[in-house]
Amino acid sequence: MNPLPSVSFWEQQWLKNTDILVIGSGIVGLQSARHIKLQWPHREVWVIDRAPVSLGASTRNAGFACFGSMGEILDDISRTDKITAYSLYEKRYKGLSQLLADFGETSIGYEKTGGYEVFTPEAAAEYEHLSANIDKVNNALKDIAGENPFQPKSTAKLGMKVLENGIYTPLEGMLQTHLLYKKIHDAAVASGVKVLGGLTAKPPEKLDNGKWRVSTQEGYTFDAQTLVVCTNGYATQLLPELEVMPARGQVLVTSAIPGLAWRGLMHADKGYIYFRSLGTRILIGGGRNLDFEAETTPELNTTEAITQYLLKYLQDVVVPGEKFEITHQWAGTMGMHQNRTPIVQRLDAGLYACVRMGGMGVALSAMVSRELAQLVKETR
Ligand SMILES: Cc1cc2nc3c(=O)[nH]c(=O)nc-3n(C[C@H](O)[C@H](O)[C@H](O)COP(=O)(O)OP(=O)(O)OC[C@H]3O[C@@H](n4cnc5c(N)ncnc54)[C@H](O)[C@@H]3O)c2cc1C
Repeated sequence: MNPLPSVSFWEQQWLKNTDILVIGSGIVGLQSARHIKLQWPHREVWVIDRAPVSLGASTRNAGFACFGSMGEILDDISRTDKITAYSLYEKRYKGLSQLLADFGETSIGYEKTGGYEVFTPEAAAEYEHLSANIDKVNNALKDIAGENPFQPKSTAKLGMKVLENGIYTPLEGMLQTHLLYKKIHDAAVASGVKVLGGLTAKPPEKLDNGKWRVSTQEGYTFDAQTLVVCTNGYATQLLPELEVMPARGQVLVTSAIPGLAWRGLMHADKGYIYFRSLGTRILIGGGRNLDFEAETTPELNTTEAITQYLLKYLQDVVVPGEKFEITHQWAGTMGMHQNRTPIVQRLDAGLYACVRMGGMGVALSAMVSRELAQLVKETR
């Protein structure tokens, strides 16, 4: 392969100095850049990304504008504590409301379908356990949401091989991932943020003059007064001290299933399986819990084991007896940690991180990006 062409004097002059540099043009990086720009209109704000558009989670997710499921909440409580877990759901609720207020419902393809948590007959004990806790969780969260977040609901009309009752939340809906990304991208650009793809940052270097130097694999160098790292599941490649694990998420989309009896969002197995309607197709993702170790990876390939697992779940549980093909398949990378809370932090003078959005960055992004911009304003 030919070596990369060297960077010209002129190219380097253009890119050399900026006030604020954000690394990562996912939905968190773009919204963070926009909020920083809105508070400092006269400062130059650049976003760079290794990919032409974005290549992590924001353009590869399932499009759940997702409050969460009972199974996920109890799982979160068992990993952390009630206060931490409930405050995360408050952030998700407020974040979703903010996102819809910022970008509108129609233009991002949002439909407030609500979401079911469904249970196979083998998961009957899990259903009993979750049902017994609904009142407790509703009491903790109903003031935030203004209504009970969870209720038992019949699954009879879904046509799935699941228990006759599931748990329903009216607080979520589905959106079109590409439309949301486009809106967020266009809003950042309209605010005056400059977005450049095709630049892979190397770990930053602190200069004696207090600026942060970021060199890229392509040979460019940026010196920024303020550096914000929004690379989510790839964060430790730039900042190894952060506690973020890359977690691969794999997704399949089926061909059209004309008799599909339901529309909306579905959760199963503590959120480790999720599926939704896409017209009369189904998008299904998950299965990381089959092999956590293998799925703790920044690689974006799909695997036979998880493909077969999701396919079998579709055939046995979701649309038993229906004929369909897999027409699309991909993987994305999430940024995870045991306690599932995001990192919005000042790491050093002029250096910030807004990463670790787990499987809920759509819901969190509007809030954490504001939090980050406010932190930069107060501490820079
Ligand atoms: C399969 C899957 C399904 C999901 N489904 C949902 C869902 O339905 N609902 C929901 O709320 N959330 C979902 N998520 C999670 C959600 O998509 C993420 O939490 C959110 O997109 C995170 O946004 P981000 O901007 O922080 O990170 P990302 O979108 O990952 O953006 C990080 C960016 O950093 C760039 N980057 C990385 N390293 C470098 C480098 N060295 N130099 C330059 N650029 C770099 C990457 O190219 C990438 O564009 C899902 C995630 C996956 C993977």
